[in-house]
Amino acid sequence: MPGVVERYRDRLPFAPGDPVVSLNEGSTPLVHAAHVSGLVGAEVWLKLEGANPTGSFKDRGMTCAVSAAVREGATAIICASTGNTAASAAAYAARAGLTGAVIVPAGKIATGKLAQALMHGARVIALRGNFDQALTLVRALTDRHPIALVNSVNAFRLEGQKTAAFELVEELSELDALCVPVGNAGNITAYWKGFREVRAAPRLLGFQAEGAAPLVHGAPVAHPETVASAIRIGNPARWEEAMEAMTASRGEIRAVSDEEILAAYRLLASREGVFCEPASAASVAGLLRYGPGGARRVACVLTGHGLKDPQTALDHAGAVVPCVPELDAVEEAVLGGTGAGPPEPA
Ligand SMILES: *Cc1c(COP(=O)(O)O)cnc(C)c1O
Repeated sequence: MPGVVERYRDRLPFAPGDPVVSLNEGSTPLVHAAHVSGLVGAEVWLKLEGANPTGSFKDRGMTCAVSAAVREGATAIICASTGNTAASAAAYAARAGLTGAVIVPAGKIATGKLAQALMHGARVIALRGNFDQALTLVRALTDRHPIALVNSVNAFRLEGQKTAAFELVEELSELDALCVPVGNAGNITAYWKGFREVRAAPRLLGFQAEGAAPLVHGAPVAHPETVASAIRIGNPARWEEAMEAMTASRGEIRAVSDEEILAAYRLLASREGVFCEPASAASVAGLLRYGPGGARRVACVLTGHGLKDPQTALDHAGAVVPCVPELDAVEEAVLGGTGAGPPEPA
C-alpha cells in the first residue's frame, strides 16, 4: 500500500506534484478481538497502529507535517514529545534530509523511543521538566526561529491522522463506538474530523490515565503521573477540540487506573496475541471498565507497539525459566512447573 498522502490525496491538503515524505505509513491491520468481545458482550476490533513504520500512529500525521514543511522550504523541524512523536519526527526528518530536534521529559520516555530518535540522528534534548513544559518551550522557540513545529498543534498532523478513521469506515461498514487513549488530544480530534468527512459518527470514548486526566477533571494537572508514559500529559493542546468531539459524538472522556491499564496490556498480549504499549491499552482498559454502552460493534485504537517499552513489559510479565543443558532438566523446564502449562500425568 502507498502511504496516506498518496492513498487519500483527494481528502488531504496536498496537490499532485507536491513533495511527499513517506515511509508508506497507514493501512494498518484491523483484527477481531475474540476474547475481549466475549468479555464485554460486543463485537470488538483492534486497530493496530503499532504496525506503522516507526511503531505508532504518529507516522500518519508526520508524513503530512514533514511533507508540508519541505514544501514550505523548511530545513529543520522540532517537537516536544512523550516519545513517539520524537521517534516519528526523527525518522521522517532523516528521510527528508532535514535537521530534527526533539525535546523530551528527562527519564520519562520509553527506551525504544529514545533509541529510535537517537538512531535517526535527531538532536535529543532531555528536559528537566514534563511534557507540558516542553511543549510551551518549543512553541516559544519556533516563534523566534524558522523551525517547523511538528507537534499536533500543527494542523497537518491532524490531517494525516484523520486517515485512520477513513480506513475504519472502509473496513467496517457499521461502527458504533471508538475507544481511544487521550494524551495531548490530537488523535481523538483527528478521528472525529475524519469520521465527519465520511459522514460517520461513532461515539468517541476517550480514556485518560487517572493520574493524568485533565479532561476528566476539567482542570489542568500540574504533575501528571502514569505508567502509560505516552499519555502523561497534564494540559492537552487540543483540549477544546477533544471536548467538542466527545460532545458531538455523544461520547465520553473517562479515566482508567494504571492497574486497569496494565491488566488490559497483559490481557491483549496473552489472550489476543497483540503486544501494544501501555498507553495504547488504556482504550481496552476503558472498554472493560465502563462497557460498550449499548454499542454493538466497537473499535479500539492500539496506538503504539509494545516493543517501544520493553522495560514496562519485563516489569509486568512472567519470569524466564533457567535451565542447565541436560535433557532431564530441559524436560522438567519445558513440561513441569510454571509457565509451560500442566505437566503430563505420570
Ligand atoms: C501520542 C500517543 C497517544 C496520545 O495521543 P494524543 O494525540 O496525544 O492524544 C496515545 N498513545 C500513544 C502510544 C501515543 O504515542
